Amino acid sequence: MATVTDAPRTGFAPPKVRRTQCFIGGRWVDAASGKTFQTFNPATEELIADVAEGDAADVDRAVKAARQAFDSGPWRKTDARDRGRMLNRLADLMEENLDELAALETLDNGKPISDSRNGDLPLAIDCIRYYAGWADKIHGQTIPVRGDFFCYTRKEPVGVAGQIIPWNFPLLMAAWKWGPALATGCTIVMKPAEQTPLTCLRLADLAQEAGFPDGVLNVVPGFGPTAGGAIVKHPGVDKVAFTGSTEVGKLIMRGAADTLKRVTLELGGKSPNIVFADADLDAAVAGAEVALFLNQGQCCCAGSRLFVEEKIHDEFVERCVERAKGRRLGDPFDPNTIQGPQVDREQFDKILGYIEKGRQQGAKVLTGGGRFGERGFFVEPTVFSGVKDDMVIAQEEIFGPVMSVLPFKTVDEVIERGNKTCYGLAAAVWTRDVAKAHRAANGLRAGTVWINCYDAFDAAAPFGGFKQSGLGRELGEAALNNYTELKTVTMSLA
Ligand code: ADP
Repeated sequence: MATVTDAPRTGFAPPKVRRTQCFIGGRWVDAASGKTFQTFNPATEELIADVAEGDAADVDRAVKAARQAFDSGPWRKTDARDRGRMLNRLADLMEENLDELAALETLDNGKPISDSRNGDLPLAIDCIRYYAGWADKIHGQTIPVRGDFFCYTRKEPVGVAGQIIPWNFPLLMAAWKWGPALATGCTIVMKPAEQTPLTCLRLADLAQEAGFPDGVLNVVPGFGPTAGGAIVKHPGVDKVAFTGSTEVGKLIMRGAADTLKRVTLELGGKSPNIVFADADLDAAVAGAEVALFLNQGQCCCAGSRLFVEEKIHDEFVERCVERAKGRRLGDPFDPNTIQGPQVDREQFDKILGYIEKGRQQGAKVLTGGGRFGERGFFVEPTVFSGVKDDMVIAQEEIFGPVMSVLPFKTVDEVIERGNKTCYGLAAAVWTRDVAKAHRAANGLRAGTVWINCYDAFDAAAPFGGFKQSGLGRELGEAALNNYTELKTVTMSLA
């Protein structure tokens, strides 16, 4: 059994929920319909707040405000360097309010406070600062064309960006999307996930304080098919950036086709985490735990297929089981907790369903396998052995604390098997053999390959998927291209 840390209790001072309305054109407004939806604390299943339920009418208002700010507002004339200064100011304000934002994230999402404080928030702040630095460094080229002409290119903002984000890293995903969009001079209509709208709304507050002009940033909380769907279809939106499931990503791509919006998608994964017998096993065992269990297993890049070389398989599995058993579950506000609840009942039920399916198909549960506690959406850290490549738990994204271990014998075999899913988001290789590491890194069809580490993220390093894991790259210089159009200007010198 995983250990208990007074699980789950509510003896903390809950952060103040300051914003629950839509943020449109620089004003806080109710949904046009007057409707609200509820957001819950997943550790206690208690109601946190009623939040404005935006739909097509609110998205329309937000798009008009964003259009106006882009087409004729002061944003258009704001110097690139001043955009950078505003982004830096926003990062400073996030830092000043770090504890409040971290607590709000933990309340709404359920992730341990130590993760929100030491992971999500610093990464989000770093991301905004990174793009602040880019704002005045986005430029075109002069091109030596044939004849008597002067030819140059400009990188212009794509316009109004519709951004739809998920609930697993709510604030961090907002930062990944706002940073490059604001650095390039776009305006934004964002829809946070219905499970976790609170930190994004508070971020809009801080953005206003940072001095972004009205209409540059708009946040419309609401549901996917209504508010999200309206963003995808609206003719006033030039580009859609989405992070979420592959299933919804496909709907978004289809929906955006009618108006030929630019589309970037960061979708699901079933990432292979490959441990060779010559690896530093202490590091690999610790790495395998982080790769899978971080954020309650709710990571698109989770190392959810743990391939272990046959020679060390039994020992390695034993050590993974020990670590899974040692995880401290409980009140996410307890600084010693390392695993909180899943985000909601739907995810909780889905994960338990996958565990059942794994059992039915003949995989063996070595630890965990059920609910943890009686209140809140906690799932025990679970380890399966005897998993076969074609089992459902080895093919579909579980998005929960469920580790599947698969033995392998050779490098070529594991590369081939590692690539055998429709996904291609991330992969990792653990070995002391440099040549083997790079051979595997070259052969794995994934947007990110980690060698002797996992989840090593940096705002400067591009992230995104091969195959059905997505389209385009976030972070780094690469993400700027998602938000710019290239214009060629040619002038006769004759
Ligand atoms: P998950 O399955 O992890 O909850 P989803 O892909 O369903 O992820 O959701 C990610 C984001 O996409 C959320 O903000 C959600 O509201 C939104 N969304 C869901 N369905 C649609 C849709 N049909 N159109 C636009 N956005 C959607």
